[in-house]
Amino acid sequence: ILANPFIFNWLVPRRQEQTDPIEPPADTGDRMDHIVLVGYGRVGKLIAQDLLARKRPFILIEDQTDTASAAKGEGLDVVRGNAVDPEALKAAGVDRAAKLLIAIPEGFEGGAVIEAARAINPDIAIVARAHSDAEVDYLQARGAGDAVMGAREIASRMLSLCAVPLKRHA
Ligand code: AMP
Repeated sequence: ILANPFIFNWLVPRRQEQTDPIEPPADTGDRMDHIVLVGYGRVGKLIAQDLLARKRPFILIEDQTDTASAAKGEGLDVVRGNAVDPEALKAAGVDRAAKLLIAIPEGFEGGAVIEAARAINPDIAIVARAHSDAEVDYLQARGAGDAVMGAREIASRMLSLCAVPLKRHA
């Protein structure tokens, strides 16, 4: 807890590339029980596509201006900001959200997002992305209910494909 301000001060200026005010997307101020998705890269885009297909309401937080603008152009509700910043989390309605999906590649940064979100909404369900067993432990110790490790999911899918007759060609 004592280290939090230092971590925050290090992370936010590093990623926050401009100083425009963080604002909630239009018409999302009364949204409840939605999902907050952090990151619109390789993983976040796949999640967003699926949520859209299921008509599951969500608000995206993305800190790269061009990526955030592209997502807005695709019709998504987007907060342009760093999810470590409580103002970005509040603008995405984390206080009223049901779930937080952290789809960013940095485990350390993911841990800082979890701590900031838990301070706003202690009950929110959190799923975070991890790259190693150590990151899974770290993220869960920070308060993630689940941490999903990419390599393990790939291995699990490959093993399940082994259990059925294999295709000879793609
Ligand atoms: P990828 O590794 O391809 O899944 O991309 C990760 C995405 O998450 C990129 O678009 C980053 O700009 C975004 N991102 C990384 N860290 C943060 C953060 N702390 N807050 C918001 N977006 C982030």
